[in-house]
Amino acid sequence: MTVTPMMAQYLEIKAAHPDALLFYRMGDFYEMFFEDAVNAAEALDIALTKRGKHDGADIPMCGVPVHAAEGYLLTLIRKGFRVGVCEQLESPAEAKKRGSKSVVKRDVVRLVTPGTLTEDSLLEARRHNFLAAFVEVRDQAALAWVDISTGAFHVMQTTQTRLGPELARLSPSELIVSEGQIEDLRELVSDFGIPMTDLSRASFDSMSGEKRICDLFSVSALDAYGNFDRAEIAAMGAVIEYLNITQKGKLPLLQTPRQETHRGSVQIDAATRRNLELTQALSGGRAGSLISVIDHTVTAGGGRLLERRLSGPSRQLETIQNRLDAVSYAFDAKQTADTIRDQLRKVPDLDRALSRLSLDRGGPRDLAAIRNGLTEAEHIGTAGLNDAPKLLIAALKDLQGHTALMDLLDEALIAEPPLLTRDGGFIANGYDAELDEARKLRDEGRSVIATMQQDFVSKTGISTLKIKHNNVLGYFIETTSTHAEKMLSAPLNETFIHRQTTANQVRFTTVELSEMETKILNAGNRALEIEKRIYETLRQGILAQAPLINQTARALAELDLAIAMAHLARVENWCKPIVDDSRAFAIEGGRHPVVEKSLRDKGQTFIANDCDLSAEDTANIWLLTGPNMAGKSTFLRQNALIALLAQMGSFVPATSAHIGIVSQLFSRVGASDDLARGRSTFMVEMVETAAILNQADDHALVILDEIGRGTATYDGLSIAWATLEHLHDVNKSRALFATHYHEMTSLSGKLDGVDNATVAVKEWEGEVVFLHEVHKGAADRSYGVQVAQLAGLPETVIARARVVLEALEQGEREGGAAQKTLIDDLPLFSATPPPAPIQTKTSPAVDLLDTIHPDELSPREALNLIYKLKEAA
Ligand code: ADP
Repeated sequence: MTVTPMMAQYLEIKAAHPDALLFYRMGDFYEMFFEDAVNAAEALDIALTKRGKHDGADIPMCGVPVHAAEGYLLTLIRKGFRVGVCEQLESPAEAKKRGSKSVVKRDVVRLVTPGTLTEDSLLEARRHNFLAAFVEVRDQAALAWVDISTGAFHVMQTTQTRLGPELARLSPSELIVSEGQIEDLRELVSDFGIPMTDLSRASFDSMSGEKRICDLFSVSALDAYGNFDRAEIAAMGAVIEYLNITQKGKLPLLQTPRQETHRGSVQIDAATRRNLELTQALSGGRAGSLISVIDHTVTAGGGRLLERRLSGPSRQLETIQNRLDAVSYAFDAKQTADTIRDQLRKVPDLDRALSRLSLDRGGPRDLAAIRNGLTEAEHIGTAGLNDAPKLLIAALKDLQGHTALMDLLDEALIAEPPLLTRDGGFIANGYDAELDEARKLRDEGRSVIATMQQDFVSKTGISTLKIKHNNVLGYFIETTSTHAEKMLSAPLNETFIHRQTTANQVRFTTVELSEMETKILNAGNRALEIEKRIYETLRQGILAQAPLINQTARALAELDLAIAMAHLARVENWCKPIVDDSRAFAIEGGRHPVVEKSLRDKGQTFIANDCDLSAEDTANIWLLTGPNMAGKSTFLRQNALIALLAQMGSFVPATSAHIGIVSQLFSRVGASDDLARGRSTFMVEMVETAAILNQADDHALVILDEIGRGTATYDGLSIAWATLEHLHDVNKSRALFATHYHEMTSLSGKLDGVDNATVAVKEWEGEVVFLHEVHKGAADRSYGVQVAQLAGLPETVIARARVVLEALEQGEREGGAAQKTLIDDLPLFSATPPPAPIQTKTSPAVDLLDTIHPDELSPREALNLIYKLKEAA
């Protein structure tokens, strides 16, 4: 069997990357062959063709144009593929030089995976794109994560049980695990929909990991960055190894690793995070989430910082205070804050520009982004913030100190450079004498050519003669065919050399013209070479300052966030919370920001409510009763959100708030079947409740909504009852417990720390009116039937439900045994008499109407009837 040299090369490269779709570069296209082609054609919905034969069968093929490749890449990555980008490493001419049959050298320059994207078009500006690695080494475990689009690099000790909450917090795009562990973790990780990639055990070896990290940061020991255990080193080492593999040795610029601990931020498990819709709504998108209504940042970096803070609110009092002070300052100094905010709007995404430059995937625009960003930063840095708090002073300081680099970029770059280095034209005139010279020659050449055309016209007397340029012939002289004879005969034929005849034109050159052309070409190429060289120097100059630029980017994000939170507080009328080490939880006039906004959009008002779980030495639980739709879930969630907002360092939607630091936040709100995992609603509910009862401590805030709803009444009631007792006696947490089991309200008499509260409703003309006001005390009844009526259940069902309810309630009053008989005695549903016709008042006039037959009435009789009716009415 013969294989063409190109196919042989393809097969060899493909064999080295069996897990990836191979984008094989051929001129202006990336082509895919065999299985890859079949899969890609289906995933991208593009035509599948064929090219040549292999083993006697057609080779399936499909391709995408290089200029549009990014979009296709994104689709493939979203659909779970990894893509190997195989480029031509030399030009066809260079290949020819090596031998007439040589194929152009090609190789994979990059493996594109979900966690290693850097293209702006493939990333969300306001979201991090984390690549994480998890490892267990004997009794230690660790998680390391990096965002190569910003250079952020973190690591923390963890355990397999804590992995879930961390994955929920970071929501990485890809998780690397060692090949032995993939099965072990599959169920856990698949819950989060995160693709897993396995690496060899060797990639997780902590000894070689240490060497990799040291090499990357050019240090001889890791001590300077922290005290890492084996697992942490192994996880960081694996991340670097994976970057080596996917970036083919071109490592991105990573910041030095930052060690995080579980104690640093509020522990929030995956279910709680989902339920509270912090950064993502239950429907999946950002719309309807908390972040979507509180994000007033004006820079991408600020947006990402907000996402990080909201995903992991702090537990450190000092950190929280510093952040609150910053927001508070920006709140008071409105005018200065507004000015800075306007300046911040002009700040480009420094982190991402830097990352592209470091991976050599950038261009002149990234150089300009760095220049513009640093220039704005410098401006903002000069703002006089008198008596500003620590955080802001530090941020302002970090905005300065780039004068040398800024001057360099200012001098070297034009104001608005083009996207690509390839075409040149981005270095300013006057920056480099050699470049100016080359450009002058090139441009002069162009004007010499214009003069030449004049000369030729006068020499030949052909006024329509033109000098033109195309890629095949270069410069040429063109006349219409009518003049051809004149040009080809003496004496003109001594000067003009015939090149080409087309349908209507004849084309010539002269010795002089081709010499000029070579000169222009050389000068042009030289100018381009010089520009590329300068680009590289500037790029290196920027990379040398990378840690400082990162610091400035962090400072800009910090400022943006503080000002944005102050702005939010002002427009939404939020207050500064008091946060301390106590066990207080006292909210006055609390609101739910997302519900409030959606009500406002509909022209309705949100009713603010208080909540107080502050007693010092006992558990503090509010048992909340009230009908469905009264606002119980909203109340529960709003208090959890207020705690999180306060601890991320934000003002809160309330008139006052005093919060003793919350260490863990748990919520069991709403129920949904997890059919994919074969768990019923009830099972999911019990698993989540178990997690809470096993973990919550006396600094936890727990929110439980309708525990036990998923099973039979008495089972449900018993479970809810026992759960509440456990929370009270063992966990001693601050908790809000919503239930529809009114029986439980008697617990407040037995347990010191339990108070009853209810969401008020009013009954009006048989219908229930929701007041959405939370009061101390228990609900008198559940109004379930009335709510069902509001929902539009058929009248017959509602009527029947009232009968059953009455019987049940009567039974309860008369003792359990009687109830059973009563239920048995109730007429069967099918035997229920049809609902009574709508009751209308009768009157003599109506009675009279009943007796008449309009068809039999004459006009006179009808008129008489009207008189009678009038009398009777
Ligand atoms: P429950 O949990 O008691 O069934 P929800 O908390 O789901 O009730 O609230 C039902 C609806 O009532 C919400 O969608 C919202 O429109 C409205 N609502 C809830 N709380 C308030 C409030 N404090 N002020 C105004 N409307 C509210």
